[in-house]
Amino acid sequence: MQALQQKIRDEGIVLSDQVLKVDAFLNHQIDPALMQLIGDEFAQLFAEAGITKIVTIEASGIAPAVMTGLRLGVPVIFARKHQSLTLTENLLSASVYSFTKQTENTVAVSPRHLNSSDRVLVIDDFLANGKASQALISIIKQAGATVAGIGIVIEKSFQGGRAELDSQGYRVESLARVKSLEGGVVTFL
Ligand code: 5GP
Repeated sequence: MQALQQKIRDEGIVLSDQVLKVDAFLNHQIDPALMQLIGDEFAQLFAEAGITKIVTIEASGIAPAVMTGLRLGVPVIFARKHQSLTLTENLLSASVYSFTKQTENTVAVSPRHLNSSDRVLVIDDFLANGKASQALISIIKQAGATVAGIGIVIEKSFQGGRAELDSQGYRVESLARVKSLEGGVVTFL
């Protein structure tokens, strides 16, 4: 996706060979026009996939997921990282090791919002080692629902997440595929 690649080139900051900071348009300040384009793109890619729900993870997945849900006309569920007093029922949950925070967290979704007839599109901001995606897949499977595809805004293809999801047979669509961050330079596939 050309506009996204350009935005990454213009406003992304390479923090190390492993980490790209995109606080200017995705992870802190959000560019709504770009999010709309991202939603349009995911909606087009998965238009024929029979999606009934989108599942993402708070907080940075929410903006692209909502724009996609708007386009596809389906609800968006975000897995919560913090237990809420209002989430009282038996939760669907999975443990996820955070790439950026380097801590293990539990993420949870209420079973009221997912059921076995759902075909779910997973959306996330980044794909690195795939831990966040795998946690969401686990939650979707616990509900007996089907993972119909995975939409990633920025994939770091040099890390292992993509290969693992491919090997598990999932359809993964990434709008920007970063081949390398070496030398402080973003190179795309
Ligand atoms: P994974 O679970 O695939 O290892 O990592 C994906 C999650 O970690 C995403 O939800 C994202 O929040 C975070 N993440 C991974 N790599 C990066 C990165 O290079 N930059 C930023 N800003 N977040 C990242």
